[in-house]
Amino acid sequence: MKHYQVLILGAGVNGAGIARDLAMRGLSCALVDKADLCNGTSAWSTRLIHGGLRYLEYYEVDLVRESLREREILLRNAPHLVRPCPLMIPIYKGARRGPLMIWAGMLAYDILSFDKSLPTHRMMFPGAVKKSTPGLKKEGLRGAAVYYDCQVEYAERLVVENALDARRYGCDLYLYREVVELGPQGVRVKSEDGQVELLTADLVINVTGPWVDQLLGRTGGNFPRQMGGTKGSHIIVDVFPGLPPEALYVEASADGRPYFIVPWNDQLLIGTTDLRSDEDLDSVRASRDECQYLIDETNKLYPQANLTLDKIHFTYSGIRPLPHTPAGKTAAITRRHQVVDHPEAGFPLLSVVGGKLTTYRSLAEEAVDKIYKKLRLPKKKCRTGQRPLPGFSLLHEPNFTQRFAERHGLSVPCARHLARTYGAWAEDIAELANQQPELKETVCARTEALAAEVVWSCRREEITHLEDFMLRRSLIAWQEGQGREAVDAVLRFMAPLKGWDEARAAQEKERFLSRLERFRVPD
Ligand SMILES: Cc1cc2nc3c(=O)[nH]c(=O)nc-3n(C[C@H](O)[C@H](O)[C@H](O)COP(=O)(O)OP(=O)(O)OC[C@H]3O[C@@H](n4cnc5c(N)ncnc54)[C@H](O)[C@@H]3O)c2cc1C
Repeated sequence: MKHYQVLILGAGVNGAGIARDLAMRGLSCALVDKADLCNGTSAWSTRLIHGGLRYLEYYEVDLVRESLREREILLRNAPHLVRPCPLMIPIYKGARRGPLMIWAGMLAYDILSFDKSLPTHRMMFPGAVKKSTPGLKKEGLRGAAVYYDCQVEYAERLVVENALDARRYGCDLYLYREVVELGPQGVRVKSEDGQVELLTADLVINVTGPWVDQLLGRTGGNFPRQMGGTKGSHIIVDVFPGLPPEALYVEASADGRPYFIVPWNDQLLIGTTDLRSDEDLDSVRASRDECQYLIDETNKLYPQANLTLDKIHFTYSGIRPLPHTPAGKTAAITRRHQVVDHPEAGFPLLSVVGGKLTTYRSLAEEAVDKIYKKLRLPKKKCRTGQRPLPGFSLLHEPNFTQRFAERHGLSVPCARHLARTYGAWAEDIAELANQQPELKETVCARTEALAAEVVWSCRREEITHLEDFMLRRSLIAWQEGQGREAVDAVLRFMAPLKGWDEARAAQEKERFLSRLERFRVPD
């Protein structure tokens, strides 16, 4: 039986962020998840690192300010993962939000991000919008606003880097271990082969996102309901002509809800919906109606897009871990987080309720400060605001990518894929490929991913299953075709490293392909 000062349950962005902060401050801790890193909501988000312009409508000024501050910290500490993303808001006659309201929102956003490194907003006249964005619906166009936020294309890598850095500072990782029971005696975790292990700690923090109530239920106690998440779905399609260089932030004509059309991973990410839902948290899928809603809205805005269900590459959907709010508009539910103490549990237990990808670092800082207080430990300063993530690099900047490619004899698309996915570690992967020429083989034609990254990632990045590499390390599976054509080549390099025989490799392939069902366009 192993004892820790803190057990962190849930390895999404918030759990991984808390683990890194705790380990950097020197506490003994372990991060536990029932599956891989970033198995939950953190992978189902729109992947924007944003202040949340929309929250200004609900006067959540402090949340917007916190998010904008965190956006700047992430830009500084993880530029390889978090990159500036210009957005355009087209304004139409009859829309709920007119030019004056948008302009006022823009001004407030600029004021709240007074310390930013990104450009301030600009308003555009209709003529200029038509010129820059010829595909946009022209009828009723009154102009547009252009402003900046950021995007983390690979949220999975943000989680992976936080968790790996936590490990470097001494945090133990228990992946594919489901918490089946927790109480004063400790936390029982069950591995995939059914073995149960008891872990004990001075304090347990429940960071299981939308599963928070389910986990509290496993204490056997009665807790007030914490979560009341709403479902959000996205569709991924090919880039269509006539788009502006910016992402689009648009008011849906059917219900006035704002949604995004974002260039992402060389495709377009369109979403999201916002619906109350009681679906099984482990298998939430976009419905046909949600896909149709996003298609209809995009076609109205972009008649040339001509989207149909069969043009969708794949979909994804998740439940926002929002605080329980029984009635009212879903958009009005606060996106603010809370670190809730459960004195009624009979052992030191905290839960994280709510939160955004954007604010994971400040949430972690707040949670760890609270842990120190609860354990009556002498205060220790948080350092995550100053310390770059381990993959910090500027290799993804086009000039550097070009030189990186030349230095290692790689194609530019391959160098770009490596730099944008692995940051500084791209150098190690390229060197490995040069030392062992057989590892220069391309395993995925679409991304130009190399065999060397399969080997490097398997050795360094806590990979248990094939799907971990495909979906959450190399991100190969987030392209059209979802990496199906790459599976055999990847397995050829992965199986010997993992000691898998032919039957086990076939099982892994089957397991990965069945995971992809969740992304399927509904019939
Ligand atoms: C549609 C949508 C769009 C969003 N867009 C954005 C955005 O653009 N920008 C932004 O900042 N935020 C966005 N968010 C919010 C953001 O994604 C989430 O708030 C954040 O990812 C929550 O992270 P988490 O670590 O708390 O939870 P999760 O990522 O859900 O992690 C919880 C983990 O707990 C594990 N777990 C569950 N039960 C158990 C158990 N019994 N034992 C062990 N482990 C368990 C799960 O496997 C999972 O890995 C969006 C959310 C959604 C749904």
